Amino acid sequence: MTTMTTTENRPPLNRRLAEFGTTIFAEMSALAARTGSINLGQGFPDTDGPEEVREAAVRALRDGRGNQYPPGPGVPELRTAVADHQAHHYDLRFDPDTEVLVTTGATEAIAASLLALLEPGDEVIALEPYYDSYAACIAMAGGRRIPVTLRPRDGAYRLDLDELRDAVTDRTRLILLNTPHNPTGTVLTRDELAAIAALAVERDLLVITDEVYEHLVFEGEHVPIATFPGMRERTVTIGSAGKTYAFTGWKVGWVTAAPELVTAVRSAKQFLTYVSAGPFQYAIAEALRLPDSYYDGLRATLRAGRDLLTAGLADAGFTVYRPAGTYFVTTDIRGLGESDGFAFCRALPERCGVVAIPNAVFYDHREEGAPFVRFAFCKRPEVLQEAVSRLRRL
Ligand code: PMP
Ligand code: GLN
Repeated sequence: MTTMTTTENRPPLNRRLAEFGTTIFAEMSALAARTGSINLGQGFPDTDGPEEVREAAVRALRDGRGNQYPPGPGVPELRTAVADHQAHHYDLRFDPDTEVLVTTGATEAIAASLLALLEPGDEVIALEPYYDSYAACIAMAGGRRIPVTLRPRDGAYRLDLDELRDAVTDRTRLILLNTPHNPTGTVLTRDELAAIAALAVERDLLVITDEVYEHLVFEGEHVPIATFPGMRERTVTIGSAGKTYAFTGWKVGWVTAAPELVTAVRSAKQFLTYVSAGPFQYAIAEALRLPDSYYDGLRATLRAGRDLLTAGLADAGFTVYRPAGTYFVTTDIRGLGESDGFAFCRALPERCGVVAIPNAVFYDHREEGAPFVRFAFCKRPEVLQEAVSRLRRL
C-alpha cells in the first residue's frame, strides 16, 4: 500500500509552503457552490468583458495565431499594445522588445519577479493586509516578509509612512506595493507614492508594484510609482487583463520595467510556464486599444455596484470602509456583535446564503485582521440587490 508521505515523519509539502494550505478563494468558492450561495468572496465578474475582445480570441484561434508556442516574452502585438497603453495613460515610455514581458496573469508576474529578484534571507516589505500570493511567493523565493499594516483612519485604510520608513533595514531588498489595494480598496495618493519613491531611492531598494486595479479607481487617481524621479529604473510594474477587461479566466498579465529587470524576471518566467497562452494574447492586444470610453463605462458600472453594496452593508449593520478603488469592500463585523471573521464567513452561507472572505488570511498579525470581512461587488446589480436583502436578515 502506498502512503502520501515519503518517510514516516515527513509530509510531502515542504516547510516553506506548509503554512499556506488551500487558498481562501478556492475554499470559499467551493463553499458557495456547495451551499448555492451568492459568491461575493472570490473577485471575478459575473459578466464577461467586451464581445469584440471575445471575438478577437475566437478569430485568433481559428486563424491559427498563437496555437503553437508563442515567443517567450509574449507576442509582439501584445507587447506593443502594453507599451502604448503605458504611454497613453501615464506618459511612461517602454520599449516593447526589451522592457515588456507577457505573463500568465499577474500571479505569474508576481511569482517570477520575486523568484528572480530575491536572494534567500532578503527582506520584502509588503503592505498588510496583503494579497495571499505575495506571502507564498516570498516564501518560495526564500525571502522574509516584513508587513507594514494599513489601518482604518477617518473611514478608510491608510498607510503610516513612518512605520514604512522604520521597516527598512540593511537586509531590505524591495518594497512590494499594491495600489489600488486589495482587499482594502485604498488608492495610495500622489504624496504617499512620492514619499515611498524617495525612500526607495534613498535606501536603494527595488519596487514591485501590483497595479492590476489601475483602471478601477472611483475617487482620487491612479499614479504609477514608476513615474516618480529615480523610479523607472528600479520598478517592476505589473498589470492584468483579468481585471481591466473582465476576463479573469484567460490569465493574461504583463510586466513593464527597465531591460535588466525584465531580463531577470524573464529568466524566472521561462522556467515557470516557458511561454503564456497564445490566442488570448492577440485578443488582449486588441482590448488594450479600446477607447477611453471603455474605461469610463467600466468605472461607472463598478461605482454603481460599489454604492449599492456599501449602502446595503451599512444598512445591515456592517461598518463599511468605502473603497476608493478595486472591486472589493472591507467591512468591520463588530457592529453585528461578531468579532471572528473566519467563523463569521464560514457560517454566513448557512445563515443567509452569501459568501465573503475573512481578511485575517491577508495578515501576519492575524488578530489585527480578525473582525474584518471582504465582499466583492463585480456582480450584476440584481445579484448585489439579492445579496443585500439576504444580508439584511442578519
Ligand atoms: N494581484 C492582486 C492584488 C489581485 O487581486 C489579483 C487577482 N486575482 C492578482 C494579483 C492576480 O491577477 P491574475 O488573475 O491576472 O493572475
Ligand atoms: N484577485 C481575486 C481576489 O482577490 C481572485 C484571486 C484568486 O482567485 N486567486 O479575490
